[in-house]
Amino acid sequence: MAASGGYNYRYGSQRGALRVDRPLSVNSNPKSSVKSKSLPASGPRRNSTGSTGGGGATGAAASKNDNTGVLGRVRVALRLRPRNAEEMVADADFADCVELQPELKRLKLRKNNWDTDTYEFDEVLTEFASQKRVYEVVAKPVLESVLEGYNGTVMAYGQTGTGKTYTLGQLGEEDTAARGIMVRAMEDILADVSLESDSLSVSYLQLYMETIQDLLDPANDNISIVEDPKTGDVSVPGASLVEIRDQQSFVELLRLGEAHRFATNTKLNTESSRSHAILMVNVKKSVKGKDSALSSQNGNNSHMVKSLKAPVVRKSKLVVVDLAGSERIDKSGSEGHTLEEAKSINLSLSALGKCINALAENSSHVPVRDSKLTRLLRDSFGGTARTSLVVTIGPSPRHRGETASTIMFGQRAMKVENMLKLKEEFDYKSLARRLDIQLDKIIAEHERQQKVFEDEMERISIEAQNRISEVERNYTDVLEEERLKYQKDYMESIKKLEEQLVMTQRKHGSEKITNGHEDDGFNVASSKESCRLHVEEIDDLTKLLQKETMLRKAVEEEVHNLKSQLTQWKRSEAAGKSEILKLRKMLEDEEHQKEKLEGEIARLHSQLLQRSFEADETSQQLDRSGAEKIGALESLMTQVRKPQLKDSGNEEKASIAKLFEQVGLQKILSLLEAEDNDVRIHAVKVVANLAAEEANQEKIVEAGGLTSLLMLLKNSEDETIHRVAAGAIANLAMNEINQELIMTQGGISLLSMTAANGEDPQTLRMVAGAIANLCGNDKLQNKIRGEGGIKALLGMVSCGHPDVLAQVARGIANFAKCESRASTQGTKTGKSLLIEDGALAWIVQNANNEAAPIKRHIELALCHLAQHEVNAKDMITSGALWELVRISQDCSREDIRTLAYRTLTSSPTFQAELRRLRIDN
Ligand code: ADP
Ligand code: MG
Repeated sequence: MAASGGYNYRYGSQRGALRVDRPLSVNSNPKSSVKSKSLPASGPRRNSTGSTGGGGATGAAASKNDNTGVLGRVRVALRLRPRNAEEMVADADFADCVELQPELKRLKLRKNNWDTDTYEFDEVLTEFASQKRVYEVVAKPVLESVLEGYNGTVMAYGQTGTGKTYTLGQLGEEDTAARGIMVRAMEDILADVSLESDSLSVSYLQLYMETIQDLLDPANDNISIVEDPKTGDVSVPGASLVEIRDQQSFVELLRLGEAHRFATNTKLNTESSRSHAILMVNVKKSVKGKDSALSSQNGNNSHMVKSLKAPVVRKSKLVVVDLAGSERIDKSGSEGHTLEEAKSINLSLSALGKCINALAENSSHVPVRDSKLTRLLRDSFGGTARTSLVVTIGPSPRHRGETASTIMFGQRAMKVENMLKLKEEFDYKSLARRLDIQLDKIIAEHERQQKVFEDEMERISIEAQNRISEVERNYTDVLEEERLKYQKDYMESIKKLEEQLVMTQRKHGSEKITNGHEDDGFNVASSKESCRLHVEEIDDLTKLLQKETMLRKAVEEEVHNLKSQLTQWKRSEAAGKSEILKLRKMLEDEEHQKEKLEGEIARLHSQLLQRSFEADETSQQLDRSGAEKIGALESLMTQVRKPQLKDSGNEEKASIAKLFEQVGLQKILSLLEAEDNDVRIHAVKVVANLAAEEANQEKIVEAGGLTSLLMLLKNSEDETIHRVAAGAIANLAMNEINQELIMTQGGISLLSMTAANGEDPQTLRMVAGAIANLCGNDKLQNKIRGEGGIKALLGMVSCGHPDVLAQVARGIANFAKCESRASTQGTKTGKSLLIEDGALAWIVQNANNEAAPIKRHIELALCHLAQHEVNAKDMITSGALWELVRISQDCSREDIRTLAYRTLTSSPTFQAELRRLRIDN
C-alpha cells in the first residue's frame, strides 16, 4: 500500500544504513540458485516477473529511472478445494457452482441454470492440483525474488474451510506430498543461503481484534508496528526473532506457533478463522562486490576510500499471510459477536479490501492507516514487494455468495501494481568494526616498533660508552706503565754512568801518583789498556742508548695506535647517533600516517551522513516530481553539496559557510513562511542543517530563526515540518540563552501541541529531546512545570518507541538534577514537582527498562529524588524505594550504585521503612 512515501530528516547523528534501491533486471539471474529441477523453462517461471495480464517488468521501465524500481503486478491464483465428505452427501444432486478451465486460466461462475460469468486469473488451480504445483506456481517466483534481495509476500484469501491454511501452513509430516508453502519455501531458502555469511530469522504473529500477539512467545501480546518513514519499511521490533539453522527447527517453530495459536484462541474465546496469522522470514545475504548495485554506483575516486570499501548486504523479507475467513466481513454482526469484536475482526479485513480497491482504481488516497493489517502489508500491496495472492474457494453451490465475493476480491487485487526495489545497503557497522580493528593493529604495531627502536638505541649507546671508557682506561694504564719503565731505565743508566765516571776518576788519580815513580814503558802499556777499556765502555753505552731509543719508538707507536682507535670509536658513536635520528624520523612518519588514517575515517563518517541526506533529498524529489518551485533552493543545495563529495576536508563547514554567502540567512528564513509547503519543508531542512552546527546557532537566533521555527510548529500542519523544526529547536535548545528565549516565546506549549498531534515516533523524539534540553536549565524549573512541560514529556511515553522513551528519561533526569541542586542550595522547598505531576509511577515502571540509556537516566533521576527527605514518603508508597535498593546493589555503574547506597543510608525515613520490613541495606 503505497500511500505517503515517508521521508524523514534526522538531525545530528545518522543511524542505520544508507539504502539504495535498484530496479530488478528483467532477465536477472536466469539460473536462480534455487534448485527448481522440475520447473520447465517456459512453464510458470515465465510469469515470474508478473508478465501475465500486462503487469510485468519492461526494459523501458527498468532503464527509465534507476531509482524507481520495476513494475511488478500482484499475481493472483485461484484454487478450488475438492468436495469434502459432507459436500459429497449434501450436494450430491447439485452441480458445483463453478467450472474451471485451467488451460485457459479461466473460471465460470454459475449465475443460474442458464447463465454464467467468466473470470480470468493468472493461474487457475483445480481440485486436483498438487501442493507441489501450487507452491511452484504461487510461491516460487516470490521466493526467487526474495533470494535476489527483494521483499516478497504470499497471502491466502477465502472463506473459512476453503483451504487457506492447507495451502500455506500444512506441515505434511505424515505425508510429505501435502507440505504447504511455508515449509517448502524454507526448504528452498535454506538450500540457497550460506549459514556462515548469511543470516535467516523468523517471526510468527497473530493479529486478532487489532492486537498483535507473538505466536512464539504468547506472553508478548501487544506488539506495536513501527514504520520507518524514510524507507517506508514496516517492522515489529517487539516480536521474537528466532534464528533458523535447519529445516527441522523451522518446522518445530511452526508447530510451536500453531500450539500457541490454539491456546491463545481458547483463552480469548476465538478460533483461528477469526484471526490472521503472519509469518515473517528475514533473509540477510552478503553480496560480492561485482554483483552489487551499490558498489558499482559508488564511484568514489579516492584511493583510500577504495581500500576501505564497506561490504554490501541485501536484507529482504518474505511475508506469508493466512488471513481470517472472508465470510466474516458480512456475517460478523449477525452471528452474535460482541459489537467490539465484530468491529475489530473485520476492521482489518475490510480495510484491506478498501485499500485494494483504492489501489486497483489508482485512487489518490489509500487508507493504509485504517487497520493494523493494512499497515503491516503496506509494502505488499502498492509497495516494493513481489506479491502473490492465492484465493481459495469451495465447490458447494450453497456458498455461491461467498465464492463470488472471493473471486471479485481476487480480480481487483490483480490490478494492483507494485514497484519492486532491491533491498541492498552498505554494511557500515561491519566496515567500522573492520577499520577499528585495523587501526588498533597499526597503533599496537607502531608502539611495538617504537619500543624496539628505543631499546636498540639504548643498547648501542651503552655499548659504545663502555668501549670508549675501556679503551681510555687501557690507554692510560699502558701510558703510565711505559712512563714508569722508561723512568726506571733512565735512572739506572744515569746511575751506571755516574759509577763509571767515579771509577774512571779514581783510576786517573792513582795513575798520576804512580806515574812519577814507575817505569815509563809500563806506564804507556797501562794507559793503552785503560784506553781500550774506555772505548769498550763507550760502545756498551752507545748500544744501551740505541736500545732505549728503540723502546721509546715502540711505545710511541703504541700510543699512536691507541689514539687512532679512540677516534674510530668516536666516529662510530656519531654514526649511532645519526641512526637514532633516522629512526626518530621514521617514528614521526608513522605517527603522521596514523593521523591521516583517522582523518580518513572521520571523513568517511561525514560522507555517510552526506549520502543519507542526499538519499532523503532524492526520495523526496521523486515523491513530487512536479514541484519545481523549490528548484532554486534545491540546485543551490546540491551545488553547495556536490564538491563535498569529490573533495574531502572541512567540507561540512565550508558548504554551510557557502550557503550563508550565496543565499543569505535572511532569505532562507523568509522561505520558512513561503506559501508552498514543499518550499517550506525544504527551507526548514536547510535551517535545521545549519542549526546542527554550533557556530551558526547564534546567527540563526539573531536573525529571528528561532521565532520562525516556533511559528512553524504553531502554523504548519505538515508532520515533516514539525519533525524537522522540532529537531532544529532541540539543537538550539542546547544553549542557555536560547533556552530562555524558547520559554518566553511559549515553546513548551508549542512543543506539547506538536507532540499531541505527531504520529511519527521521530517527531516525538525531537520534541522530547528539545524539552529534555530545557529541563537541564536551573532557572526555568518552575516555568517548565507551570507550562505543562513535565506533563508533555509523560504524555509522549504512550508511543512506546525506545528512542522517545530515552529522551523522556533524559528530560526527567535533567529536571531531577536541577531540583536536587536547588533543594541543596535551599532555593527550593517542598516535594519534587516531578512527583507532584505524577511522574513517579512511570519512573518506577521503567527503572529497570531493558534499553540501557533509559535505565541509566531513570536510575540517576531516582537518586536525585531520593536525596531529599520530603520526597521519601511518596517514593516508599510508589515502590521507588525498592528500585533504589536494587540500584544500590546491582547497578552496573559504580558511581550510581554508591550514590544510591549513600542516599538510602542517610535518609531516616528510608531507614525506618527498611527496618520495619527488616531489610538490611
Ligand atoms: P481454511 O484455512 O481456509 O479455513 P483449511 O485449510 O483449514 O481451510 O481447510 C479445511 C479442510 O479442508 C481441512 O481439513 C483441509 O485438510 C481440507 N482441504 C483444504 N484444501 C484441500 C485440498 N486442496 N485437498 C484436500 N483437502 C483440503
Ligand atoms: Mg485456516
